[in-house]
Amino acid sequence: MENGSNQKRRLTRRHVLKSGAAALGSGAALLGGAPAALAAQAPGVITGTQTGRTFRGLVRHGNTLDVQEMRLLSIDPRQVVIRSTAVAPCYTIVRGALSTNTIRRAEVPNHCGFGVVEAVGAQVRRVQVGDRVVVAGTSQCGQCYQCLHGRPDYCQFTFFSNAQGVEPFPPFAQFVDGTPVYAQAGIGGMSEIMTAFEEYCVPVFTDLPAAQLTLLGDQLASGFAAGHADMRFEPGSDVVVFGAGPVGLGAVQAGRVTGAGQVIVVDPIKYRREFSMKLGATTTLDPNAEGDGIVERIRELCRGANDRRFAGGVSWGRAGNAVMSRGADFVVEAAGLQTMPPKVEAQPDPTNVKTVQQAWDCTKAGGHVMLMGFTLQPVSFPGVSLALLGRTIHPGQQGGLHVMRDIPRYVKLIEKGIIDATSVITKRYTLAESRQAVQDTADRTIITGVIEFT
Ligand SMILES: [Zn+2]
Ligand SMILES: [Zn+2]
Repeated sequence: MENGSNQKRRLTRRHVLKSGAAALGSGAALLGGAPAALAAQAPGVITGTQTGRTFRGLVRHGNTLDVQEMRLLSIDPRQVVIRSTAVAPCYTIVRGALSTNTIRRAEVPNHCGFGVVEAVGAQVRRVQVGDRVVVAGTSQCGQCYQCLHGRPDYCQFTFFSNAQGVEPFPPFAQFVDGTPVYAQAGIGGMSEIMTAFEEYCVPVFTDLPAAQLTLLGDQLASGFAAGHADMRFEPGSDVVVFGAGPVGLGAVQAGRVTGAGQVIVVDPIKYRREFSMKLGATTTLDPNAEGDGIVERIRELCRGANDRRFAGGVSWGRAGNAVMSRGADFVVEAAGLQTMPPKVEAQPDPTNVKTVQQAWDCTKAGGHVMLMGFTLQPVSFPGVSLALLGRTIHPGQQGGLHVMRDIPRYVKLIEKGIIDATSVITKRYTLAESRQAVQDTADRTIITGVIEFT
């Protein structure tokens, strides 16, 4: 079967070369309304996926968010048509998706997904028809400046790549009345069919269920990467994780897998604190109860066995520098902005400024802090500490994940039961219930909700 489809691909490519790639590359003409001779060259047609096929998806349009029927538009030669099998909405999209502001542009929310490849554009090399693919929130093209410099977490295909005024991701579908439908971030994910540029697609070769694998496109993979990609937890080290949502719990698991000495979790939501203990937290703290004393509380927890300077102890004097140098070896800020009031315990500072500062403050001199859940406000740090304390700030964009390197590794860790991708799924939905999945994500009444397509 594998050989068969390889052969099909080879034939197709040769055919394309022979009859002129330029014609195919002309974009809009690729499949939509293409002359029969041209359409015959396109793999999409050969594999049975054609422009114009109808499908359903959750769409934000006007002032509504509901399931709509759409028609697929033609794909770019570097795009992949994917039949979605599972998707987990990300908290970062809930405000935009649930807002009742009128918006001009119809859009399928989210920025990751999982499914089966049904068709590939003529220039696609990374995936083949029939592959199961994680569609990740960040691309890894392998060719841009960032990828070549070891930073695919900032791949320019995702970031900074579009010329001014140029729409990087054209609409992928349209309503029956012809209204174009876009996919959020060029990915979407909450529709039965998704199209994605191959740079975002990571094929995975495993029998694991789609509901688990879809967590590797975003939240769980990003959180786990926080401790294993750019910033690297060490065995026996003190780890602190702010925020025990789907991302933070990935970082908690990274601490457990590394063999961290302790994993301290800070979250206002009681059920999430309790849940984190099952995944590897050793202590949990409620930031509402601790108030401003939380930094000193964490420093105390990381105090260590002695304070003897020549016996490996951490300095413990009362002078300013000594106080600021106490803390954890690794800190992950994954609390993030609280964009909507939750139905459970609220964050002490919805803007997240305070959490970012606390994450910095409870990092030991020479320690590492990753800022994942951002704030929209300016954050200030004491200049002396910035210069002298030797703390390294790591950017938290997908936790430093290199999708093509890391996702296949995480698949193996899930297979071996080392990463728990099962218990973090606390609710499942059908597409018809997908709006509720977004609402529950906003309400924070679930850890991770997964929409399964049938
Ligand atoms: Zn996300
Ligand atoms: Zn790149």
